[in-house]
Parts: sequence; C-alpha cells; structure tokens
Amino acid sequence: MDKQRINEIINVLDKLYPEAECSLDYKDPLQLLVSTQLAAQCTDARVNIVTKTLFKKYKNAEDFAHADLHELEEEIKSTGFYHNKAKNIINCCRMIINEFDGKVPKNLEDMLKLPGVGRKTANLVLSDIFGIPGVVIDTHAKRLSNLIGLTKNTDPEKIEYDLMKILPKEMWSKFCHQLVYHGRAVCKARKPDCGICELKTLCNYGKSDKTTKKKDLHR
Ligand code: SF4
Repeated sequence: MDKQRINEIINVLDKLYPEAECSLDYKDPLQLLVSTQLAAQCTDARVNIVTKTLFKKYKNAEDFAHADLHELEEEIKSTGFYHNKAKNIINCCRMIINEFDGKVPKNLEDMLKLPGVGRKTANLVLSDIFGIPGVVIDTHAKRLSNLIGLTKNTDPEKIEYDLMKILPKEMWSKFCHQLVYHGRAVCKARKPDCGICELKTLCNYGKSDKTTKKKDLHR
C-alpha cells in the first residue's frame, strides 16, 4: 500500500465520518470494558439497551465481582453467549480487585490477563479511555481491511500489525471507528454497496468487481 493511497483513504473516511467514535454507551473504564465484552457477537445497540439497566445495579468492579452468576446471566441473556460472558465479567472484576487495586489496568499486557479480554477489547479501552493509541480490529475492520487491500491477513492480530505499519499512530483508533461506520453504512457484510462508495477507486474489491462497474454505468 503506497503512502498516497492510504492518505487518500484516510481523507475520504475523515470527510465521511469526522466524528466517528465508539457507539457503546459508557461512563467509565469498567463500563466500557464490560460493554465490549457483551458486544461480542452482538450489536452495540442491543448492548446499550442491556447496560442501561445493568449499570444501575452494578456500579463498580466490587458489584460485578460479587454478582450472582445466574442472576447476571439472566440480565445479559439477550446479548447471546451469556454463560461465558457472565462468568468472564465476574472473574474479570475479581482480578481487577485482587490484582489491580480495583482499577482497570492501563497497559496492554495487564489488560490481556483479564478473563474474557482479547486484543480488540484491550485496545479499545486503552485508546478510547486512556488515550493510548491502539488498532481495534472488530468484524467490520477485518472485513473492510481485506476488501480495500490494507492487508492480506485474516488473523485479527496480524491485521492489527499491518494497519499499525501503514497508518499514522494518531489515526489508529479513529480509523478503525471509521471503518466500523463505513461497514454499517455502505460496505455491508451481506453485500458491499460499491456503486455508491466513495472509496471505490481506492479499494481493491471496488476496482475489480465487474458487477459493480456494470451497475455504476446505470447510476
Ligand atoms: S468499494 Fe465496495 S468493497 Fe470497497 S469499501 Fe467500498 S463498498 Fe466496500
């Protein structure tokens, strides 16, 4: 990926989504950590509905650490995979209390020790809460990075490193939020709408897709 092309991609996404940010609702590091865990295989909109009530009952790591497993499972059931999510949230908060003085750790190494916390969650919390640059590879960022040609890898950790190499550090977090916005609005998982996409001439898939080109002639 040459520098000019990545700069143009950054400019297009910046123009389209200047205010791109995490769409989960949260008021503190722990809330974002819990919300991100709940968001696995679930929409942010659904998670926000669940956490609106959840965070009124569980106000801090202590509350989650002492939660009744079955009660918590019921409360988060609609986000899916609730057995694992509830168990991880309780164990994660126990570790935060026992090993990190009740506070969400501020570095990747410690974050990754927390049960249920992978690189996506860790990088999201570190960048959005603590301002530590991080590349956040969720399902949208993974799909779009491959389609556009920012990476040839499918493993999220390898994609993360590929993007770190080509993006300016100050753009790491925002760029990934912008990919999510674009993935929801235009480059949808079921069918990318290349015909109306402003990245089309900069995107490997958009440039090579013959159906798109035919369709564009009639727009
Ligand atoms: S041109 Fe098509 S594949 Fe490429 S980003 Fe746009 S919608 Fe997605």
